Amino acid sequence: MIDLHVHSRFSDGSFTIPELLQLAQEKGMSGIAITDHDDLHSIPIVQKLTQNMDIDAIPGVEVSTVYNQIDIHMLGYFIDPKKGILQEKLDFLIDSRYQRNLEMIKRLNDLGYEISYEMLPQNDFARNLGRPHIAEALLKAGYFNTFDEVFKKLLSRGKAGYVDKEGITPIEGIEAIRSSGGIPVLAHPFYCYRDRRLLEEFVAYLVDHGLGGIETYYVHHTRSETEFIKEIAQKYHLVTTGGSDFHGRYKPAIDLGTGRGSLYIDHSILDQLKVAHEQYL
Ligand code: AMP
Ligand code: ZN
Ligand code: FE
Ligand code: FE
Repeated sequence: MIDLHVHSRFSDGSFTIPELLQLAQEKGMSGIAITDHDDLHSIPIVQKLTQNMDIDAIPGVEVSTVYNQIDIHMLGYFIDPKKGILQEKLDFLIDSRYQRNLEMIKRLNDLGYEISYEMLPQNDFARNLGRPHIAEALLKAGYFNTFDEVFKKLLSRGKAGYVDKEGITPIEGIEAIRSSGGIPVLAHPFYCYRDRRLLEEFVAYLVDHGLGGIETYYVHHTRSETEFIKEIAQKYHLVTTGGSDFHGRYKPAIDLGTGRGSLYIDHSILDQLKVAHEQYL
């Protein structure tokens, strides 16, 4: 079993890299990619820690991009952090995240929620905090009972506490990942468009601009959605990947490598990704 979509405390996961690797080992997993939002800190750490471990670890990232006011997440695999323009783009995104967090807190204060930046939970890269951290501060302060509740009432796009972050386009994301030697893969495609025709059009557009893969096996996919993505992947010659989007306590229903208990991703997916990456470059 493998998991190619995992968050650590360098973004909005609640586990450190050593904790994630240990958990993967305990579960007998044979492959993993840590894919923090807009952050590459995990890459050298994972490389060092897995040298003497029986697990195939590949460098990863999940880049936040925006298209027509829709959040589009672009996974990147086999990134070389020292190569290309990716780190430069991510520095911009992290700065914009930091500014946005300050603005969201101010907005929430105006709405009567007494929280401050200092009340946000600690993580391993303090400027790379996001909505889940703000949600947790609101939970801790007793305003809400679940993450879902906070997002539904306040933090989802369009709600009173929501503030846009300055972003980059999916095409810029694809190009940045490519410049750093990675293969760009569209994350959780059904979050982009629920409508299958619109989704296919969008995928075709990304393929024209260098998309290399599509996340096919995903926790929240129904069987029919997985089948649809498989067809799209075949039609547009995209490699299929999969992951749980594990966030630890920030997404309590999701477990590493398993989603809601029904997601099993075979090691062959990782092998195909390696082949696709070599062909892609
Ligand atoms: P941000 O990058 O700060 O805009 O936050 C986006 C992140 O918030 C996503 O990657 C998810 O991890 C998380 N998120 C979005 N919607 C929800 C939700 N309804 N419940 C829990 N977490 C969510
Ligand atoms: Zn996240
Ligand atoms: Fe995502
Ligand atoms: Fe994710």
